[in-house]
Amino acid sequence: MIRPPGWSGALFGTAAEGDVRVDPAARAAFVAAGAPDAWAFVTQVHGVDVVEATGPGNLGEADAILTRVPGLALTVATADCIPIFLGGDGFAAVVHAGWRGLAGGVVSETLAALRRRGLDPVRAAMGPCIGSCCYEVGDEVRDRFPDFMTTTTWGSSSLDLRAAARAQLAGLEVWESERCTMTDPDLVSYRRNRTSLRQVAVTWLPNG
Ligand SMILES: [Zn+2]
Repeated sequence: MIRPPGWSGALFGTAAEGDVRVDPAARAAFVAAGAPDAWAFVTQVHGVDVVEATGPGNLGEADAILTRVPGLALTVATADCIPIFLGGDGFAAVVHAGWRGLAGGVVSETLAALRRRGLDPVRAAMGPCIGSCCYEVGDEVRDRFPDFMTTTTWGSSSLDLRAAARAQLAGLEVWESERCTMTDPDLVSYRRNRTSLRQVAVTWLPNG
């Protein structure tokens, strides 16, 4: 489990905590680490829709969740995409950001949704994702992110997913995990082995 420094109410899971969708013990590991036991989640579709959670359960198809309810955990599940927490007074928010979502502006859309509600996002935390060291991409992706292309450790074109996300977080204080899901054996990676498992990122607005 990874706690972004300086955050209360934010935990990035690793392979060790398990996948809450298939492992009943996984949620307990987060609750034991201080997370609430009421969780809201979404059916992730690599889109840009943002939903506001007022209670637990599946909120439907979306890739970002915000809440103003203290003690309600928001969660996304990822393998190589970036889980991103957004923080500030009076809310919690989480974004599931892969290349398709970032190309559509999912992070910007979430910040806009917060600001429309009079909320002020001041910080962000990015969990582990596939690094530019490993994220080989083809023309379809390259054409969408001309400013964020780099090369893999084996010399082919890669996308710097974190940099693409960071570009939408202008003005916020940003913390980033530097761990690469594909090469870190303690993390789940779809690219590595086409796994159906996911690691879980959980954030909440603490009570009081
Ligand atoms: Zn890597």
